[in-house]
Amino acid sequence: MNFFVKFWGTRGSIPTPGSLTQVFGGNTPCIELRVDDALFVCDGGSGLRELGLDLLRRGKSPVVAHMFFSHAHWDHIQGFPFFVPAFLKDSSLIIYGTSPGDTKFHKLLSGQMESDYFPVAFGDLGARVAPDDLGQAGKRIAGVEVRAIAQLHHGPSYGYSFEKDGRKVVYATDNELDLELENAAEVAADPDLLRHAPRRYVEFCQGARLLIADGQYTDAEYANKRTWGHPRATTCVDLAIQAGVEQLAITHHDPLQSDDKVREKIEACRARAQRLGGKVQVFGAREGMELKID
Ligand SMILES: [Zn+2]
Ligand SMILES: [Zn+2]
Repeated sequence: MNFFVKFWGTRGSIPTPGSLTQVFGGNTPCIELRVDDALFVCDGGSGLRELGLDLLRRGKSPVVAHMFFSHAHWDHIQGFPFFVPAFLKDSSLIIYGTSPGDTKFHKLLSGQMESDYFPVAFGDLGARVAPDDLGQAGKRIAGVEVRAIAQLHHGPSYGYSFEKDGRKVVYATDNELDLELENAAEVAADPDLLRHAPRRYVEFCQGARLLIADGQYTDAEYANKRTWGHPRATTCVDLAIQAGVEQLAITHHDPLQSDDKVREKIEACRARAQRLGGKVQVFGAREGMELKID
């Protein structure tokens, strides 16, 4: 079984091109998962445009993509109208909702292509763009178990897990874990204590080979941005330790963070993991990075 993950967009909130973001990248969220021949796409930020072009370069035709959206804030859907396979007649894009009969994301994607916002109508796309849903408790798609969980974000947002033959990858952005720490009072007094993440997220991420998590803010930044929908990156470390995650990719980097600033954020996460005794490997998600899941 071949299981690959590739990052096409790792920036939160707004595309941030320029000389200060060349290492970690400036495109908004988009992740590609390839499990054998099946293609899964998480989020359609501006990175989705790059993925579309690459699929064509690979000679991938027809494109059949199973698409999952965390939520419909702009940074997670703005790449969709520029996803070239959507314009090709033989492509098939399946847009998943998170509960039985849920067609919300299909509707939101078509809404952002209304004429006030975009010149080409959703109905004029060449591809077959069809809604589907994950049912009550997830769905097996091309042999991969896919599940969703509601997260702590305005909207809300949804995290997704993809699992086959015991190999599990979790994509979990925008999720303000800090809002519901189970030992909130204790960690408010001592931020160095292990922060107990909400139990449902620990269970959802349990045993993942890779957790791709929203770690938008440094500890200092978070002090002024509580309730904005994103956690301290360091809190993701604590979640990963509690869930026995092997590798943690911090993503959704704040647009104000230069490459140097992201590096500092990741160093702080690594130091925390070491101090707390966790075995998790922490790194900053970087545009163009590809990982094989063993
Ligand atoms: Zn976002
Ligand atoms: Zn958001």
